[in-house]
Amino acid sequence: MISVVVPSYNEEENISDCRRELEKALAGEDYEIIFVDDGSKDKTWRRIAEESGERVRGVRFSRNFGKEAAIRAGLDEAKGDAAIVIDCDLQHPPAVIPKMLEKWRNGALCVEGKKSYRGRESKSHGFSAWVFNRLMSGSIGFDMSGASDFILLDRKPLEALLRYNESGSFFRALAQYVGFEHESVYYEVAAREKGKGKFTFGVLVSYALKNIASFSSLPLLTGVFSGAAAVIAALALLILKLFGINLGSFSGGVIALIFIGGLTLISLGIVGYYLGRIYEEVKNRPKYIVEERI
Ligand code: UDP
Ligand code: MG
Repeated sequence: MISVVVPSYNEEENISDCRRELEKALAGEDYEIIFVDDGSKDKTWRRIAEESGERVRGVRFSRNFGKEAAIRAGLDEAKGDAAIVIDCDLQHPPAVIPKMLEKWRNGALCVEGKKSYRGRESKSHGFSAWVFNRLMSGSIGFDMSGASDFILLDRKPLEALLRYNESGSFFRALAQYVGFEHESVYYEVAAREKGKGKFTFGVLVSYALKNIASFSSLPLLTGVFSGAAAVIAALALLILKLFGINLGSFSGGVIALIFIGGLTLISLGIVGYYLGRIYEEVKNRPKYIVEERI
């Protein structure tokens, strides 16, 4: 059986279209569709209830826990031999699913949907997504450009992934991180026809920071770099002085002081951020709370 996991937040206009398209793409397969209502404020849950039946299930959160939690809940519920995560707004074309299944049946344990064309998105959204993916690729050490949450996982990598219990987990990176035989299918991002996108620039920046913190400790080293930079700057001033170029008696000291002071504060901030993340993890709170299943 194939499990299809659909995180849904304020998607009342998309639920029934999504279900219809998924059914078309999965015709002839044994499958289940799991809609996870991530604490929507509109009629999403009512729409899911209307669609529910033999092959369609719904899980409703007690409040909005975020897309990562919604994906996780769907994967926790999935009973299939493979699970596919797909957006509710049809920006991930369900028509690509048969290609994913074919690669899976030919032995791939993880089939990633990669964006060949990002669709008609605004310049600012395209830019924020680009910055986000660059930052993520750099800190995680895998190429994340073109990566998305549109991924098929075989039961094996799925079980492996579910063993990662950190609260700040990042699905598309973890899917890479667990290893196994990966293949890609390429798709063009369709425009969102109905409802609004939820990931604005601000949301993406905080999402990136959180995910970088959960995968890398590199930012903690910036303090060391700032120290090194200050030493180099001091050397440069010294050399200038040896050549008889004098920038005034206080200039060097003042520059260094400001520089080091600023960077100290920045690194203190980063330490604080990691401390906050550690605090979050140590509390080991549930990633989501289910209010109701259907
Ligand atoms: N989503 C969610 N919880 C959230 C935000 C979004 O489950 O807090 C879902 C949303 O319903 C959609 C998917 O995540 O199915 C992607 O959201 P969106 O289309 O807003 O993101 P984008 O297309 O900009 O990546
Ligand atoms: Mg979308």
